[in-house]
Amino acid sequence: MKEKGRFGDYGGFYVPEVLIPVLEELEEAYYKYYKDERFLADLDNYYRHYGGRPTPLYFASRFSEYCGFKVYIKREDLMHGGAHKVNNTLGQGLLAKYMGKTKIIAETGAGQHGLATAMIGALFGMETKIFMGVVDIERQSVNVHKMKLCGAEVVPVECGTGTLKDAINDALRYWTAHVEDTFYLFGSACGPHPYPTIVKHFQSCIGKEAREQSLEQIGRLPDMVVACVGGGSNAIGIFSGFVDDKDVRLVGVEAGGKSVASGNHAATLVAGRVGILHGAKAYLLQDEEGQVTETESISAGLDYPSVGPEHCLLKDSGRAEYVAAEDDKVLDAFELLTKKEGIIPALESSHALAYLMSQKGKLPAETVVVVNLSGRGDKDVGIVEKYRPVN
Ligand SMILES: *Cc1c(COP(=O)(O)O)cnc(C)c1O
Repeated sequence: MKEKGRFGDYGGFYVPEVLIPVLEELEEAYYKYYKDERFLADLDNYYRHYGGRPTPLYFASRFSEYCGFKVYIKREDLMHGGAHKVNNTLGQGLLAKYMGKTKIIAETGAGQHGLATAMIGALFGMETKIFMGVVDIERQSVNVHKMKLCGAEVVPVECGTGTLKDAINDALRYWTAHVEDTFYLFGSACGPHPYPTIVKHFQSCIGKEAREQSLEQIGRLPDMVVACVGGGSNAIGIFSGFVDDKDVRLVGVEAGGKSVASGNHAATLVAGRVGILHGAKAYLLQDEEGQVTETESISAGLDYPSVGPEHCLLKDSGRAEYVAAEDDKVLDAFELLTKKEGIIPALESSHALAYLMSQKGKLPAETVVVVNLSGRGDKDVGIVEKYRPVN
C-alpha cells in the first residue's frame, strides 16, 4: 500500500491477507483519478445537475433568536436523496466506473447509505447488492422498498445481531471473492484505509463551499462549526474546510441515547475505548471483555459502535471537541427548527441543533455558528410522532 492510512496511531488496515491487494487496487485507482481533469469535470457535472450542489448556507434568524447567537445552516438536507450521502456515493460510484467495475456492493444500517448507493447504481447502470442485517431490514422497510425500486438487491445478513456491523463484515467477505468486477462502496469516513481518506475527500465539498459562503455572506469565518457524528463523514466533510483556521472551534455531536450514563448510546468518542473494528483502529464502544456493544439511539443513522480515525486524532489533539446529545433534547431540537424555520431536520442532524440549543445564553450574541444540516427529517416524522404526538 502506498500510504499507511494513519491518523496519529488511528486508522490503518487491520484486515485479512486476502483483502490487502483489493484495498491496494482501490488506493491506486483513487490516487490516479481524484485529481484527474476528466474525472473532476464528470463529478462536478453530477454534483450540480444530479445531486444539487452547491447547497445554500442559510441564516436561520428565528432559530438564532432562540439561541441568542447567529446560526447559519449548511443545507445538505436539500441534496438528492435528502442527505449528504449522495456526495460520497456519486464520487465512489464514478470511481468504480473509471476502474471498469460493473457491479457495486454496499452495507447499510438505517438504509440511507443503501438507498444512496442504489440510486447511483441505477444512475450508472450497475448491478447493485446492498448487505443489510435482518433486524434492520425489519425496522427500515420503507428504505428497503425504495432500494428495490431502484433495482438493487437487498441481501439479508443473519449472522451476529443482524445489524450494521454484521452487514459490513458480510460485505467485506463477499468482496474478497468477487473483486474482479465488484466495487465496495463504503458509507462513512471509517473502515480500513483508504476509505476514511476517500470518503472525506468526496464529502469535503461541504466544507469548501461553507468556507467560501461564510466569507461571502458573513464577511468572515464562523466562530464555530458544528456537525453530528455517526461514522463521521458529514462532520469530517465540513470540518475539512476549517481545520486549518485555528480560531474556528469544531464541535462534533454524538448520539447520547436515552442517557449517556445509562450506557445505551452511540457516543463513541465521548465514552469509547481504543480498539479495532472493521479494519481500523479507533475509539470503540466495548464492554470489559472487549466485546463490541450494541448502540441505541433515537436516530438509527448514528448507531455505529466505532468512528472515523481522523476524528479520534482530532479529539486527542484537542483540535475538535466531541459531545453527546440525549434523545429528549434531540426531539426538542427537531421540533424547534421545524416550528421556527419550517425546515424539518433529520434526527441525526437534530443532534447538532440540540447542542446549539444547549449553548443558549452561554455564547456572546455576535457569535457566528455554522451547523451542518446533514439531512432532512421526512423519514423521521413517524418516529417523532410516537414520542411527541401532535394534536
Ligand atoms: C448517515 C447519516 C448520518 C451519519 O453518518 P456520518 O457518516 O457520521 O455523516 C448523519 N446524518 C444523516 C442525515 C445521515 O443520513
